[in-house]
Order: sequence, then structure tokens, then C-alpha cells
Amino acid sequence: MKVDIDILSFRSSLLRWFRRSARPLPWRNTYDPYHVWLSEVMLQQTQMERGVTYFNRWLLRFPDIESVAEATSSEILKYWEGLGYYARGRNLHKAAQLLMVKYNGELPRNYDELLQLPGIGPYTAAAVASIAFNQDIPVVDANVERVFARLFDIDRPLKGKGVHAGIVNMAEKLLPSGEARKFNQALMDLGGLICTPRNPDCAVCPVASHCEAYQGNFVEDRPIKKAKQPLIEIEMATGLLLHQGHIFIQQRHDNDIWGGLWEFPGGRLKSEESPEKAVKREYREETGFTVEICSKVTTVVHFYTKYRVILHCFRCRLNQESNLPDLKAAQAYHWVKEDQLDHYGFPAGHRKYIDYVRQTCPHILTSEC
Ligand code: SF4
Repeated sequence: MKVDIDILSFRSSLLRWFRRSARPLPWRNTYDPYHVWLSEVMLQQTQMERGVTYFNRWLLRFPDIESVAEATSSEILKYWEGLGYYARGRNLHKAAQLLMVKYNGELPRNYDELLQLPGIGPYTAAAVASIAFNQDIPVVDANVERVFARLFDIDRPLKGKGVHAGIVNMAEKLLPSGEARKFNQALMDLGGLICTPRNPDCAVCPVASHCEAYQGNFVEDRPIKKAKQPLIEIEMATGLLLHQGHIFIQQRHDNDIWGGLWEFPGGRLKSEESPEKAVKREYREETGFTVEICSKVTTVVHFYTKYRVILHCFRCRLNQESNLPDLKAAQAYHWVKEDQLDHYGFPAGHRKYIDYVRQTCPHILTSEC
């Protein structure tokens, strides 16, 4: 992959456009390294508008690294709830604690030191080093990959072997010394605003005269698309257990997929198993409780990574004297009042279940069946 364009002209066209059109994003007000780091972590796998909402809400509660370090992991996950990929929140928390001990609550400027922090890989280290500290390091996210595939007619899928490294190498050649902060963000904004995945607005693109795909009239064919993998459907079941005015919730182990989050017990249906039987079995296996199913409440559908999850949601009651669980699949439990549910972070499916109940049948959070 070669950079075969007039580099000086490309840089000045792009930077001129960025001066006029940069998105007014909140972390661009001060380029505080904590803000830049937080934005980069939150925006991975998250749409910009949603990321900005979470970013602003987060800063109201955690204005600096020290406040993140001092929070409980439960509170961190509560503020992360709905963003998904919860390891990001857990790593941010661990990194903040390490920064307090090792760097006096500040982020190091050095790329290699940034890489040592939990949750910071080559992409985030490059983004923080260049955007917060203006170091001459290229940043290549999905937007930049797409722009380069079109600009330089990359005729291989972006996930193909060596393609990302090749694009980083090209971005390094284009980067003007001393202007990494603006240049990297200009490329990212170009991909986010103009060179979009569908219907790129080439007519107003500041670098159209350099773009091979546009000049050759094959923009639609770049990037090369890989065949989409079909979603894998899985069926799960869960039960809301109310006993003496309190709802049972348990906290998943830290090393689980949704580690640290809270949930109603439940799990995946076994072959030929009904959702009702699955809830009773899961309660028995995970908590030792014997429960009776009172009624089906709803079915929630949600998506994560390559899965489409159908979650059957029930209402149940305790069919034994003791309310003390023998936890087998969780690290902690609470019996909570209905209005305390919002103090805990839940995975998307369970939160949808709670929202559904609140909107359509709130009595089942307070009256036993
Ligand atoms: S001309 Fe079109 S395809 Fe090429 S970089 Fe600009 S927006 Fe993307």
C-alpha cells in the first residue's frame, strides 16, 4: 500500500476543512487528558451522540481521575450501564487507581507508558498521546480505515492480514509534524461526517481531488466488504423473585462476561427445556432456592456482539422458608426494594425487563404473587 498523492496539498486541504467544520465535541474544549482518554474509551463500539450523552453524565459524577479511583466498582458499572462492553468500565476504574498510585492522578504523556495501563491498547494510547499531548503518532480507527480504503484504493478487506498495519504506516507518512492533534481528528471527522459508510458526500469532500475511488468512480466498491456472519440466536429465561417486599438480585463474578453487574438469576435454556423449567433449574443451581413460577411477564429481545438474545421474563415466588441463598454463580446478593433497583447496574436484557415492568405492571415489583 503506497501513499501516492501530493502530501502537502492533501494536508492543507484537510486541515483547512477541519478548521471550519470540526465537530463541537465536549472534550475538544480543553483537551484535558482525562477527558480525551474517557471519550476514546467510551466511543469504542458506541455511536457519537450516545457517547457524548454518557460522557457529560459521567463527568458530573466523576470530574477527575481521583473521583474515578475512589468510586466503588458497582457505581462505576452503574454509570456505564447501557454502554455495553463492561470490561471498558472496569479497566478504566483499575487504570484510575493505578494512576493515583504511580502518576499522582495524571496520565503519562509517553505512548509506551500509556500502553501499560489496564484497557489501553495501541489505538487508545495513540489517541491519547496525539490528541491530548499532540505527539506525532497516527491514529487509525474504523473511520480512518474507511477513508484510506477509498483514498488509496485498498483492494483487500479491512480486517485482512496486515491491512491495518499498512494503513497505520500510510497515516504516519501523511502526518504533519507538530499537528497530530488536529490532523488525526480531521481524518476521524472526515470519516464520521463526509466519508460515511453509506452515501459518502464526495461532492463536498475537501480531499476529493486526491481520492482514487472518487476519481475512478468506484466509491461504492470500497472498502471491500466481507460477507456478514448471520446472528446466532440464543434463548434465555429469568425470573423476578419478590419476597416480603424485597426483590432478589445477585452480582456476577468479576471475570464473567458481565462481571460486576447485577441480575435476576436465570440462564440459557437447555435442549428441549421450557423457559419455566429453566428458571426453576437456574434458581436451584445458582442460589439453592426453590421457586414457583407465577406468570410469564414478557419477552425481551436484545443484541450483543454476534448474538440475538430472546429473554423470557417471569415472575416467581419463594417456595421455602429460608431467604438465605447458597450462591454458586455470583459473588454477592441483595434483597432490595423496588426503588433501589436503579442503584445497581444491570445488563441490557434485565434493564429492559425492569423498564417494561415499570411501564406496564409496576405492582409486580411490590406485591407478591
Ligand atoms: S471523495 Fe468521497 S470517497 Fe473519497 S475520501 Fe472524499 S468522501 Fe470519501
